Amino acid sequence: MRLDLYRQLRDHFAVIKLSSIIAVWALFQFLVVSSSTSVNPLYRSPELANALPITSLSYIIITLAFWAIIFYDESFTEKIHRSSLVVDVAYLYYMTLTFPDFHSIFLLGFIALLYFHSFQSTVWTRLGTLTATIVIYCSAALGWPFYRFPGNDLIQVSQVIASLWILSAAAYFGWKLIEQQQRMIGTLDKITVELLDTTLSTEISNEELKQRNKEITTLLQINEIISSSLEWEALFTNIILALKNSFIFKNFTLFLYDEVEEKLSIRIANGVFYDEDSSYKITPGEGIAGWTFQNRSSVCVADVSHDHRFKEFSSSKAIPASLLCVPLIYRGTAIGVISLDSATTGNFTRKDQKFLESIAYLISVAITNSKHYSTVKEESITDNLTGLANFRELQNRFNEILEKNIQSKDNLSVMMIDIDHFKKVNDTYGHLAGNRILKALSDLFRNYFRKTDVPARYGGEEFAIILQGSPLSAAKDMAESLRYRVSREDFFIDDERNYNINLTVSIGVSSFEDENIQRILEYVEKYDLGELSRLQIQLIKNADEALYYAKNKGRNIVVTWQQVESLRQDDKEAEIKESSGDQKSGETP
Ligand code: GH3
Ligand code: MG
Ligand code: MG
Repeated sequence: MRLDLYRQLRDHFAVIKLSSIIAVWALFQFLVVSSSTSVNPLYRSPELANALPITSLSYIIITLAFWAIIFYDESFTEKIHRSSLVVDVAYLYYMTLTFPDFHSIFLLGFIALLYFHSFQSTVWTRLGTLTATIVIYCSAALGWPFYRFPGNDLIQVSQVIASLWILSAAAYFGWKLIEQQQRMIGTLDKITVELLDTTLSTEISNEELKQRNKEITTLLQINEIISSSLEWEALFTNIILALKNSFIFKNFTLFLYDEVEEKLSIRIANGVFYDEDSSYKITPGEGIAGWTFQNRSSVCVADVSHDHRFKEFSSSKAIPASLLCVPLIYRGTAIGVISLDSATTGNFTRKDQKFLESIAYLISVAITNSKHYSTVKEESITDNLTGLANFRELQNRFNEILEKNIQSKDNLSVMMIDIDHFKKVNDTYGHLAGNRILKALSDLFRNYFRKTDVPARYGGEEFAIILQGSPLSAAKDMAESLRYRVSREDFFIDDERNYNINLTVSIGVSSFEDENIQRILEYVEKYDLGELSRLQIQLIKNADEALYYAKNKGRNIVVTWQQVESLRQDDKEAEIKESSGDQKSGETP
């Protein structure tokens, strides 16, 4: 583009130069013709006529040399072809003066020369100019075929015609010049526009490049997050952070489809994580998210107030202005919806929509992986018969809870529960019936205890329950009421026999208030938090000891560790009494 401009400018200078030379020459010719009716005496000079062969030859050589150079070097041609024309013009003018008899022929030569010499220097115009020049040279040098050609009258007529022609040619050049300049102004405008366009499009493509870069970074980040974290909260906290790289949005919402309830539950909204039970639920088709799920198609809403599908959920804190909703599809099944919203209308573009669609697949994979992971994790920490925490999970949770309670100086109690005469149940009704009862009892526990308590299957038909924040008295009351509840419960044997049996449990209770626990607690608090497992073992031991005494005292009762000492004392006293009684009876006979 710039090169073209340069060429045009250069050609203009050549044209201006040429036009001015022709104009001056034409003016001169016109003056000569109009000033005299007879031919100028200079034309008849015999000295000039005698010099004809040498001058002609030298001009032929010089011009041929010029042409040789012109055809040999293209770029050189470009530079000098205008000046070669000037040389030709000057030469022909000289010839006109030298051979007045051939005046009209030379003038015709001029006409031919100008005719063939156009603005654009193509091979054909050059060839035309060359041919015309050669013809003129030949006729001038050999005098053929116009040697005795016409007299003065014709010379004068041809001079007038040639002058007029040259004047009109000059006018034509001038007009061309103006036209060319106008065209150039137009071209310059076009170039400016094009340059502006190019600059703009460079800016746009730079912007696009940056955007693309961001998108790739986000995708890589999400990919990394997915492979590194399977924990739900960590996973989505990081995904939301990664999304903020590429999108401007206020809230991220995740809806997951619950196949049992056939509803979409909001699992993440306004930065809050909800579990399935506590989440707000919508039916597929309800609101824009429901529509997205039902139609399995993403939607970009520039202004929700103009979208009939929009529905305000009671969970939403503020009504968004614009929305971007994309379905989550894993292996052909819609599993949920993700949505980004903004307080500004028209916040999301088509490009955003396309990009979120590609991210949605990664998120679907992440969710599925995380679900599988949760299932495996759940299975590894729960007892598969009862669904309660297993022994390993009890130990882990126990440590966590102990640490928390020690720091918050909260109370804590532990219950150990053992089914009375369970062996007999197994023996009478069979192992499977026994299993059924274990499961039913566990369900009862699950409903009975608070969310913060941890009921676990300790082993066999023994259960341990951590009662967070409960002082001994409260734990004892809870144990007592549980014991009563179990004793009143009907346990179904099986469909075949179709009848219920009753059971009783014995419960041992320990707590932070136990004397030996207090000592460990003090030590742990002051010196070594790493001694939590000692605390844990002792609490279980205390509860177990109390349970032993509950069994000892006839079962279906609750005993606390603090009662153990006095019970032990009672036992000792009873023993002493017994042995002294024996002695007395021994003495009597
Ligand atoms: P008590 O505790 O009152 O002294 O008498 P018990 O008959 O319950 O005695 P113990 O606790 O020693 O017996 C535990 C019995 O529980 C032994 C075993 O048959 C039964 N048991 C343990 N685990 C399971 C189980 O997973 N399924 C079934 N069906 N029975 C189990
Ligand atoms: Mg038992
Ligand atoms: Mg037992």
